[in-house]
Amino acid sequence: MIAATENKELDFAAQILRLAVPQMSALGIPVTPENYTVWYEYFAKSNLDLNRAIDGFLTNNVAFTKEVNTSLYKNFIQEKTPEIIENVHLETQILINSLISKIAQINHGTASFSASLVDFGHQLQGASDVTTLTLLVDGVVDEMQNLLSNNQTMEDSLNAMGQEVRNLKSELENLSMAALTDQLTSLHNRRAYEMAIQDHIHRAQEQQSRCSLLLIDIDRFKQFNDTYGHQVGDKVLAYVALALRQSVRGDDFVARYGGEEFVVLLPNTHFHHALQVAENLRERVSERRLTVGKDRKQSLGAITVSIGLASLQEGDDAETLFNRADKALYEAKSDGRNCVRG
Ligand code: GH3
Ligand code: MG
Ligand code: MG
Repeated sequence: MIAATENKELDFAAQILRLAVPQMSALGIPVTPENYTVWYEYFAKSNLDLNRAIDGFLTNNVAFTKEVNTSLYKNFIQEKTPEIIENVHLETQILINSLISKIAQINHGTASFSASLVDFGHQLQGASDVTTLTLLVDGVVDEMQNLLSNNQTMEDSLNAMGQEVRNLKSELENLSMAALTDQLTSLHNRRAYEMAIQDHIHRAQEQQSRCSLLLIDIDRFKQFNDTYGHQVGDKVLAYVALALRQSVRGDDFVARYGGEEFVVLLPNTHFHHALQVAENLRERVSERRLTVGKDRKQSLGAITVSIGLASLQEGDDAETLFNRADKALYEAKSDGRNCVRG
């Protein structure tokens, strides 16, 4: 049995999860652990200063930029109450734990399911991140589906529980997006790319369509860091990320591959069309000037990128496709940079 107090805590954490995630996505705030902690606290109303600050921002339509989000976290969470962070993780775990107990209660007659729940419970003890939790919840959903097909009498109550687990699963998936997102640029990260490329290749082979890959590297990026410092370097990265995202179509996939390298996946796109897209991206990045300094009077000069292009060929896998794009990028660099090769 679940103690009444545990149930209350559980409901509270679930309630906050359901409020915080949609509100954050409405405001365009990435669901990172830090940001989630800020908004968890906001909806928990346990930190009046934090609530006052956020309410002020909301009233004045202040955008929740990366800087604003970071300052909220630093000023109201990190410095004052470091233990809050642990609490949020903990409460999300309690939520899942208790859900499992509930399922166990209505299934105590079904030996195999109970056994797998015990196993699940053990695994949960060791689960420390959202990705693991998501996998575990997946396991419960599978088990429930097995059970549903074997045992008609429990169907109604299990359906209801199944829905609850599915809701929780989609909320966890929102959280686990953080694991696939690059913090600095809010683009997909390399891990997300590794998954997406498999998907794109698979689909292209199935539909006998083309797909192209662009590998994009900022020219002489080290100079920005060395001349103006790392913070300006980061600003350049964010600028390029935004320019890339703004110049591709909705079903194109943009990620920060690492350091100052980006990848763009173009589904259903032949080599010649991809070349055009790459040229557009290259021009788009170089045509604006970033400014820095107190009065924004100091221009950074042109920011340019070199681009290597490869289109999927028969017999390609993720690695051979990437290697061709990488080789083309190398050519673009040795041909003087700020150009596209493929
Ligand atoms: P090239 O035109 O040949 O590409 O020259 P480059 O200077 O861009 O290339 P290089 O590989 O020599 O330098 C890349 C630099 O990117 C070195 C590294 O310090 C910097 N860097 C990597 N990740 C980050 C980051 O997250 N922030 C900042 N500010 N700099 C980064
Ligand atoms: Mg590089
Ligand atoms: Mg570079």
